[in-house]
Amino acid sequence: MSAIVKFDDVHLSFGALKVLKGISFEVQKGEVLVLIGRSGSGKSTALRCVDRLERINGGDIVVCGRSISDPKLDLRALRQDVGIVFQSYNLFPHLTVEQNITLAPRWVKKVDRATARAEALQVLRQVGLEEKIDAYPEQLSGGQQQRVAIARSLAMKPKVMLFDEVTSALDPELTGEVLKVIEDLARGGMTMLLVTHEMAFAQRIADRIVFMHQGRVWEEGPRTLLADPQTPELRTFVGSRH
Ligand code: ADP
Ligand code: MG
Repeated sequence: MSAIVKFDDVHLSFGALKVLKGISFEVQKGEVLVLIGRSGSGKSTALRCVDRLERINGGDIVVCGRSISDPKLDLRALRQDVGIVFQSYNLFPHLTVEQNITLAPRWVKKVDRATARAEALQVLRQVGLEEKIDAYPEQLSGGQQQRVAIARSLAMKPKVMLFDEVTSALDPELTGEVLKVIEDLARGGMTMLLVTHEMAFAQRIADRIVFMHQGRVWEEGPRTLLADPQTPELRTFVGSRH
């Protein structure tokens, strides 16, 4: 197996605050790794480091064979390989769904307009929203907007997708449709690193689960980890989610 993302003893501080205290784990090709842990345990920060939205202070992360601490790192190439979707879907409100999706392919990858539209339709099909290609974000529900945000990431043909609590800003009745899209992607073989507090979803989708606690990988294992916690911290965490 080959690691698409490899965290190797990653340290990160914000000033005096040590947020990541030497975390190591790997995401293999085609694997879904789910990061769980209490608020403030460092999950979002860890994710942001992969795309180098944060700079690490020690250790290394290797993404698709590139070290993010390499001074000669091609940041644009790194960010083409890594798709990232956050809690807030931040589509451009004045652009249509097509324009939102094709912006990066057209301007970064220089894809021509007709090809970009065809590819937009294709990724919209993956998230079940082909018929919305000419809509504006405000005409869509929150769940649909988040699905467009996922499609927009897919349009860059990433090698790995990062999802950070993508349903936590949504009304409960809209979370299901977004989780289903992510689950379909996972079944289709997409490599993923995903933060969620939807434990049932985590258990369904995860190949591996990493439980972070106070900036450390506290426990790691297959999806059965949640049913059989080895530490009081994970036991408490799982208990608080039922
Ligand atoms: P999680 O996603 O697990 O809730 P975060 O990675 O968001 O945790 O945050 C971990 C810790 O780092 C928290 O104490 C948070 O307040 C702090 N933190 C996150 N981002 C910053 C930042 N840009 N500047 C200072 N502190 C930050
Ligand atoms: Mg977070």
